[in-house]
Amino acid sequence: MASETDTKKIIIVAVCLGIAVVILGYQFIGGRGGRGAAMADDTWMVCRNRQCRAEFELPISDYFEFAQEHLDPMMMGPEGGQMEGYPCPECRENSSFRAVKCEQCELVFREGAAGPQEFPDTCPQCGHNPYD
Ligand SMILES: [Zn+2]
Ligand SMILES: [Zn+2]
Repeated sequence: MASETDTKKIIIVAVCLGIAVVILGYQFIGGRGGRGAAMADDTWMVCRNRQCRAEFELPISDYFEFAQEHLDPMMMGPEGGQMEGYPCPECRENSSFRAVKCEQCELVFREGAAGPQEFPDTCPQCGHNPYD
């Protein structure tokens, strides 16, 4: 019986080591791999002004800089709450918000536009998402 317990211990240790190797390997590959879509340099923006509806690209660093200065994270609801938008280059209103461009049909839409059951970046027009 003692040897059987030892065998179990060895198996458990081996499994743990195997998992550790997989995690380390994953981090190693992940650290060296290219940046994912979420880390792209630019973000799409869409203007909420009904007379404007401009779509434009913005360096993600500019957006985060703006967000840090102007947006209260506690107020960021699914609809953006009452938060101020980024100044739109077309209509000059503070009414543009971060958006996603569909890789399939090229629609630019606000995150979450496809509804709460879908991924935030699921396209409301064709249903495409980057995770398929
Ligand atoms: Zn605008
Ligand atoms: Zn689409």
